[in-house]
Amino acid sequence: MALVACPTGSIGTREKLDSKAAAAAYPELVDENVYFCGYASPNSYGAASYLITRPEGNILVDSPRYAKTLVRRIEEMGGISTLWFSHRDDVADHQKFHEHFSCKRIIHRADASGIPAEQFLEGEDPVSLDNDLIAIPVPGHTRGHVVLLYRNKFLFTGDHLAWSDNRGGLIAFRSVAWYSWREQTKSMRRLLDFRFEWVLPGHGRRAHQSQDVMHQSLINCIKWMETIK
Ligand SMILES: [Zn+2]
Repeated sequence: MALVACPTGSIGTREKLDSKAAAAAYPELVDENVYFCGYASPNSYGAASYLITRPEGNILVDSPRYAKTLVRRIEEMGGISTLWFSHRDDVADHQKFHEHFSCKRIIHRADASGIPAEQFLEGEDPVSLDNDLIAIPVPGHTRGHVVLLYRNKFLFTGDHLAWSDNRGGLIAFRSVAWYSWREQTKSMRRLLDFRFEWVLPGHGRRAHQSQDVMHQSLINCIKWMETIK
């Protein structure tokens, strides 16, 4: 499965194995109706992408590689009605997914240059996209970065926020704060208004903790961010 997920095809095996089972194992269940897509695309900098299956229409969070096996699996799981982008880095094969599934693409206006989305988010106020689905703009990594909160449980964080096993908590990536670290710290404070259990990032570890542990970890992360220029 690592071989299938790797964006640059850098993983091999010593013995010849049949990779079909691994190829068909994505999207892989994370929890409830949320799946990890595997098939990371080099055009999305190898970022992780996720699928939420819902009766109202499935949502693809950031773009994986447009691979036939994955597309077929997603078809079996009900297709895609919305392709949602955390930010401009992770759009990869959006055009192919859009054409195949006729899905609506949503991105923040500030990150939309060259991306012909069907819906644009504006400003910094959280936007309710649908039942239990809130888009929260968090400028910092890029100007138009947005995180997606689903059912006050799953937070899809793109490159804004991730978990670190080393630090045993939430972290942000100073060296890739392309737009502004100060703004990213401010954005992080605004996340304190929300509750979540899962952090599902583009890069770095995903994590599942109680809402209280996540909240405390977010407070610690902000304190740490404030110490860094
Ligand atoms: Zn990025």
